[in-house]
Amino acid sequence: MDKDTIIKIFSDYGLQISDDVAVKFVSLMNLTLEANKHLNLTSITDDDDFVSKMILDSVLVSKDLDLSSGALLDVGTGAGFPGIPLAIMYPELNVTLLDSTNKKIKHCQTVVDELGLKNVSLSNFRMEEFARTHRETFDFITARAVAPLNVLLELTIPALKTGGTLIAYKGSSYEEEVEASSHALSVLSSSIDKKIEYTLPTSTEKRVYLLIHKSSKTYEIYPRNYRIISKNPL
Ligand code: SAM
Repeated sequence: MDKDTIIKIFSDYGLQISDDVAVKFVSLMNLTLEANKHLNLTSITDDDDFVSKMILDSVLVSKDLDLSSGALLDVGTGAGFPGIPLAIMYPELNVTLLDSTNKKIKHCQTVVDELGLKNVSLSNFRMEEFARTHRETFDFITARAVAPLNVLLELTIPALKTGGTLIAYKGSSYEEEVEASSHALSVLSSSIDKKIEYTLPTSTEKRVYLLIHKSSKTYEIYPRNYRIISKNPL
């Protein structure tokens, strides 16, 4: 797919992007699909699906939330999604990509270097460990396909600043996850500010962004260690 087609797809979804951003998106697609042949990063192999489900899906939230500056942590980034597309679109946004799998972080480093992104740093940690040393640090945290919402809240909210926003990218069954998360939201002084439902160009599946607001400092005991979180989630 060429840059002009990407510009048109984004414009149809209400997002205006420059030639430079579209060129970087094309490079990101080519680099990821090429690496995917031997690294098994994503099940998506087709250009149209990649632009839709990996790139547009990553950045559509910026229509509802100003991400043009601040510090953003992308937890469980995998091959760099949604963090890398957001870093390409917003050069003033400081993006940290975090994943517990070393080969994924190494791949992300190669992509960041190839694209010359100066606003991205990388961390090869488990989130529950990283959150203990980076408390109340980030303005935004993103997570797509990482953990059920109640688990994700405990992993991420401690690293969010008071007043910051967790962006949870979810699929169509999100309502059950929200129902199971009322205790976690309350213990972690957080609330769901907005639920934004949408569909993508190459799919009829309903998707949603949950924008979760943190209203006060998190108790020091959170996050607990992962064995306890998964055995006895909030
Ligand atoms: N966010 C990417 C996307 O949407 O394409 C990747 C999703 S992949 C299904 C989940 C990723 O989360 C994996 O790369 C895994 O290593 C990472 N992950 C899961 N639990 C984690 C944790 N507690 N700390 C850090 N990374 C974690």
